[in-house]
Amino acid sequence: MEKTTKNPLCPSVAEILALLKTPTKADFALIEKAYTFAKKAHEGQKRYSGEPYFNHVANVGYNLANIHVDTTTIAAGLLHDTLEDAAILPKTIEAEFGKEIRKLVEGATKLGKIRYRGVERHVESLRKFFVAMSQDVRVLLIKLADRLHNIKTLEHVPEAKRRRIAMETLEVHARLADRFGMGKWRAMFEDYAFPYAYPDEHAKILSIIKNKRITDEKYAEKIYRSIQKELAANNLIPVKVDYRVKNIYSLWRKLSKREMDLNKIYDILAVRVIVKTVDECYRALGIIHKHWRPVPGRVKDHIAVSKPNGYRSLHTTIFRGDGGVIEIQIRTKEMHAEAEYGIASHLSYKEKALQGTDFEKNNAWIKELAKWQKDIDTSKEFLENLQMDFFKYRVFVFTPKGDVIDLPDESTPIDFAYAIHSNIGDHVAGAKINGKLVSLDTKLKNGDIVLIETKESATPRRKWIDYAKTTLAKRHIRSYLEKTSPIEIIARKFFRKK
Ligand code: MN
Repeated sequence: MEKTTKNPLCPSVAEILALLKTPTKADFALIEKAYTFAKKAHEGQKRYSGEPYFNHVANVGYNLANIHVDTTTIAAGLLHDTLEDAAILPKTIEAEFGKEIRKLVEGATKLGKIRYRGVERHVESLRKFFVAMSQDVRVLLIKLADRLHNIKTLEHVPEAKRRRIAMETLEVHARLADRFGMGKWRAMFEDYAFPYAYPDEHAKILSIIKNKRITDEKYAEKIYRSIQKELAANNLIPVKVDYRVKNIYSLWRKLSKREMDLNKIYDILAVRVIVKTVDECYRALGIIHKHWRPVPGRVKDHIAVSKPNGYRSLHTTIFRGDGGVIEIQIRTKEMHAEAEYGIASHLSYKEKALQGTDFEKNNAWIKELAKWQKDIDTSKEFLENLQMDFFKYRVFVFTPKGDVIDLPDESTPIDFAYAIHSNIGDHVAGAKINGKLVSLDTKLKNGDIVLIETKESATPRRKWIDYAKTTLAKRHIRSYLEKTSPIEIIARKFFRKK
């Protein structure tokens, strides 16, 4: 899906228009107008590389068109630097392009003012992103598209700035992309930033994988064709079979956890089988297991239970027959689009409803987004509802390390603790919100940073049931209380219940 432009420095308006899925005349006119307006606004300005500044904004528009967001967002992307860098007034944007685009451009400009000031600020940046996103998710997409082009052109930036931009990209933008299920952008953020953030580690990993990858790739070529044949022999015609190479930054992260031993990593290369339906996913898995022996304990059903960011696929690892193993990922076309473009793939599905794509389970809030997308006709209405209703009922809070936990509105530190781990929930001794000690029934607010203090001797109290908002927490508290109630203990003693 990712297309590259003919002139990589500056995509033309025609190239951007060519990416629109079902464009109307008005869509064409809007993009052309924004493109021309931005070109004129940035006239004479230059990037670090010496190329015209406009190249940057054209690329941002192009990045957005590539993930098929609505034309309003693409136009705002083209205009995203006009307020700050070209001294255009917000009211001019409004007069030319309307209130909605003005709001998006202003939102993106405001977010741009957050400057990175060291590792401890990452959480702060993430928090601001979430607050902005709760007003309009499209602002977030514009900022990601903006950073994507900036990180791709990082070599031109003065050396002193490079590392901090690269670190910030890893800690903020890659994580946001991951949280929103945008696997493709996450991998790009990571791999463009990696050599600047950790140059030594990057060089080391390149030398480690040099030979291994070539042999593996040869094998992958062979096996994906055999899989294709085997499926066809069983009357299953897949949409596509190919393979992907694990992006180098995730490989490094994984290797660091496995003593840098490549033999302990099974998914450097993974064969991908894309089929039409969920049924076919399971059938394909059966056919593959009948022909190649699976590695025990490596079969994962992320369709029945999706990953927290919404990722769905069946994974298995098979013995290749030559002593090696290889991972196979099986998914439908829709799951594949979701895995690559996440939240953006839902923004673009406006006419093609999500029903029948089984987008559900686990990731409650992305699921909510999908449901609305299905019920509401225009994406404008969708987005209005998104900000009015949806975010009213959820809070996004953070661990001190910056992990995002989303909870229903009015949740308390008790819910937060159980959302992290039942063991933490069962031993809450106290809680701090944004550095301040609070009582356990305090309602969490969007953007709060929550620290739970635990003690082995601390255990759930009955009143926690009233404090808790989530069923998860209530269930754990109840089960703990039942286990430890005097009646239970006596009953166990006399009736030898376990
Ligand atoms: Mn920019």
